[in-house]
Amino acid sequence: WAKVDGKNRWASYDPERNAREIARITLSHAMPAALEHEEFYVDYQPIVSLSDGALLGVEALVRWAHPEFGRLGPDRFIGLAEETGLIVPLGLWVLETACRQAMKWHDADRAPFVSVNLAARQVAEPGLVADVSAIIERVGIPPSSLQLELTESAIMGTTGEPLSALRRLVDMGVRIAIDDFGTGYSNLAYLRHLPVHALKVAGSFVAGLRAGAAESVDARIVTALVSLAHTLRLDVIAEGVETGEQAELLTRIGADSAQGWLYAKPGPPEDVEPWLR
Ligand code: C2E
Ligand code: MG
Ligand code: MG
Ligand code: MG
Repeated sequence: WAKVDGKNRWASYDPERNAREIARITLSHAMPAALEHEEFYVDYQPIVSLSDGALLGVEALVRWAHPEFGRLGPDRFIGLAEETGLIVPLGLWVLETACRQAMKWHDADRAPFVSVNLAARQVAEPGLVADVSAIIERVGIPPSSLQLELTESAIMGTTGEPLSALRRLVDMGVRIAIDDFGTGYSNLAYLRHLPVHALKVAGSFVAGLRAGAAESVDARIVTALVSLAHTLRLDVIAEGVETGEQAELLTRIGADSAQGWLYAKPGPPEDVEPWLR
């Protein structure tokens, strides 16, 4: 690998790290063509009401059916796409795909909202509002059926132009949720002024909820997060709910809705259909 950069730098790397780096570069370079050839696809995971178990919405989660490496999860390529900027067209493709799918479900009398992840890089993009509103119009989805998920780091650093972009989206009727809430740095004084509708409590806290452990640190943290959210008049979506015990505790704590393997794993649109009835 000495030839890779001509400076023999790679020779000092261990082979495993080297192989990982090669895989990263290979994936990174393959992404634009993969987008063009429609190798990406979207899975959907139900978000259900904790009070009655009804389907409220679905989260759209992108995957890559790589012709050589098989199915790749977003953790393998979203970071790379952010580095190269491909996240911008890829993110818009996911958004349009998810909105079209939601519109198919809207023909039934249940109309779940669709929740789409936005990368920090997309929020910083000057064309964001125009691109999102073009998709909404083209697809004909009611803006209130669309939720955009941003992480704390993507949203907290948002000032000036990007912040006004979020405000314009909210004025259009789009909902904003803060993803993985509790794992990043949130400035509470700042949070009160953000155009946000919901907090998604990170699965890492939910994982620590167990019956008989009501006073565990995680239970107390989730209780505090729910109380904070409700003080700010925000909805709470608990992520990563895997057991009935966790769902029970979350209901008792007062979380509004939940998402996780207990209800359904992310899957193709057909998997959501039974939830519509
Ligand atoms: P996220 O937005 O926090 O999505 C939730 C992740 O938790 C998903 O992982 C989902 O499959 C997983 N999950 C759901 N229920 C459970 C559960 O009960 N237990 C456990 N252990 N995990 C559960 P996934 O699909 O691998 O996505 C990982 C991350 O990739 C997402 O985290 C999101 O940050 C990012 N991502 C996915 N799709 C997109 C996209 O279209 N655009 C952007 N920018 N990021 C995306
Ligand atoms: Mg998310
Ligand atoms: Mg999350
Ligand atoms: Mg995440």
